[in-house]
Amino acid sequence: MKTYEVPLVPGPVSVPVKFREAYMTDFGSSDLEKDFYELLKENQRLLREILKTTNSVTIQSGEAMLVLWGALKSTVCPKDKVLALSNGLFGHGLGEMAEAVGAEVRYLEAEDGRFIEKNILQRELDSFRPDVVTAVHCETPSGLLNPIGDAAPMIKESEALFCVDFVASAGGSDVRVDEWGIDLGLLGSQKCLSLLPDLSVLTVSERAWRAAERVDYAGYDAVLPWRDAEEKMEMPCTHNWHANAAMNLSLKSLLEEGLENSFRRHNETAVYCRSRIASMGLELYAREEELASPTVTAVRIPSGWTWPRLDASLREHGMAVGGSYGQLAGKVFRIGHMGSQADIGLVRKGMDILEEVLNK
Ligand SMILES: *Cc1c(COP(=O)(O)O)cnc(C)c1O
Repeated sequence: MKTYEVPLVPGPVSVPVKFREAYMTDFGSSDLEKDFYELLKENQRLLREILKTTNSVTIQSGEAMLVLWGALKSTVCPKDKVLALSNGLFGHGLGEMAEAVGAEVRYLEAEDGRFIEKNILQRELDSFRPDVVTAVHCETPSGLLNPIGDAAPMIKESEALFCVDFVASAGGSDVRVDEWGIDLGLLGSQKCLSLLPDLSVLTVSERAWRAAERVDYAGYDAVLPWRDAEEKMEMPCTHNWHANAAMNLSLKSLLEEGLENSFRRHNETAVYCRSRIASMGLELYAREEELASPTVTAVRIPSGWTWPRLDASLREHGMAVGGSYGQLAGKVFRIGHMGSQADIGLVRKGMDILEEVLNK
């Protein structure tokens, strides 16, 4: 199997050895051991601190898509009205998932490389009167960090349930679940937390629990069985002790570094990356500098290149980046500088390789 000296894929990111080592311990059965529940509760407490919330935090075994599906299936009834804010694949995808649940979905798409304008959002909230609004904080396939905090007061006033995917921002950029009135907050382990893609996190407000009671969805991804699971020491299924032990290390190391310091590290790495991109005469996908994510940089494929040829050339030089999907497939490539990859030295190596490849 080929490995790359300069891993800059926007998730799953490279997992530091100290986190991987947590998988070497032989734990007992997670269903029975008190120690496991203590670990789980500590992770929930650390996540509350990182996500700035007093809401419930569930940690489920499974990749992040688990909580995207689980949150929607657990709180959306057929015929509910869902407003899906979108400027990329995940924003649109949340709407499609709500449609699959039977909801009446209205897509509010932003212009290329931008976020939805406030007056347009307000008009849609007033005319459509959604039960649920879905949004994405860091829209990874577009490299955009959406101003969720600016939109939050309008959504709060509309009284719609607010579901936000912060899978690729939390830990690397400020996420304020309580201040922004996020009822359902979605997170995965493989982005800024630099873990394997094996755990997903969901923050659940009281309002969201009430919605889940009303819907009463049953299934492997259902949220309701996790409500008091730790208190009762009853898991809906066998949990992943190893992954929780690794998550514990990751969350503690993030808080030891300090949230503000982590945000600064991500921001400085992103600013450096963008300055190199600009000096090569390449074009960012983001139309406004404030929208460029501190965790991932999306760049338009330079003229004269195709994505497969650029990808192959970079890989020959030991560097792996991401392509994009959906409408941006073949048009944009992405440099992932989140979590362990938010490292100026690493990005410098990557940008040197990119420059060399483009100048050949
Ligand atoms: C990575 C990611 C997810 C999880 O999706 P996968 O493609 O399965 O990794 C969900 N939402 C966002 C915004 C992400 O970046």
